[in-house]
Amino acid sequence: MDQITIEKLTVFGNHGVYPEENKLGQKFLVSLVLYTDTRKAGMSDELESSINYGDVSQYVRQFFEENTFKLIERVAEKLAEGLLLRYSLLEKVDVKIEKPWAPIAIPVESVGVEISRGWHRAYIALGSNMGDKKDYLDKAVEKLKKHPLCKVIKVADYIQTEPYGGVEQDVFLNSALELRTLLFPEELLVLLNQIEAEAGRERTIHWGPRTLDLDILFYDDCVIDTPSLTIPHIDLQNRDFVLIPMVQLAPYYRHPVLNQTMSQLLNQLKH
Ligand code: ADP
Ligand code: MG
Repeated sequence: MDQITIEKLTVFGNHGVYPEENKLGQKFLVSLVLYTDTRKAGMSDELESSINYGDVSQYVRQFFEENTFKLIERVAEKLAEGLLLRYSLLEKVDVKIEKPWAPIAIPVESVGVEISRGWHRAYIALGSNMGDKKDYLDKAVEKLKKHPLCKVIKVADYIQTEPYGGVEQDVFLNSALELRTLLFPEELLVLLNQIEAEAGRERTIHWGPRTLDLDILFYDDCVIDTPSLTIPHIDLQNRDFVLIPMVQLAPYYRHPVLNQTMSQLLNQLKH
């Protein structure tokens, strides 16, 4: 992707672990790589079509003046988040913070941290088969819409489906949604578990009745397999109640392991 760069912007701030650093302050050098599509600005020659690096520089200075953190890791994290939330054209940002006056009793040119942060695309499955099912799904969508680090892009139609997994229980209401998020996969899982808990979800029978089930189907094209998280979601290729909403949201999205589009997977399931 195209890049706009700012190198070694010199700002003053009070960040540091030592009280003297918080009192006296020191110099910081901030370097940014802003990932954005510059084609429109390149064709139109209009500043509104791009990210104004002057405005970004002012924002960085203000950020340093208005906040005091102990660690430059934290400075970089919150600065990246602030930039990604402020500039809608910004997809990803590399932030490098250097501290040329770092208080270590050995001559050093500078110390620093460099991080890369950006928006991620996730697909979430929603399901309910107890109580007011539509209301449980509606409330979950609302909570995701309100979360500061999430943007709900599209919600698929709610569909009624038969229970899966052999446990005798009520019919389900299912859907899926497309999310843009700054959360990492594990953090997203924690948020979804929290929303489930707020809906009174109790984990008793595996595959049994539930007020609300929220699963991460995909996260970018990531393949993750840890004790708490499997992405892409296991077995989704055998579940029409996942594939029907996914086909509505992203028919040409390709499963990163099976290498088949959502439409292809649904067609294979039907035959
Ligand atoms: P299920 O969704 O299979 O009916 P649960 O909702 O009770 O079962 O989830 C059980 C566990 O599955 C969760 O605690 C979570 O750690 C784990 N899990 C693994 N991968 C995922 C994923 N992609 N999305 C949601 N939960 C997942
Ligand atoms: Mg689940």
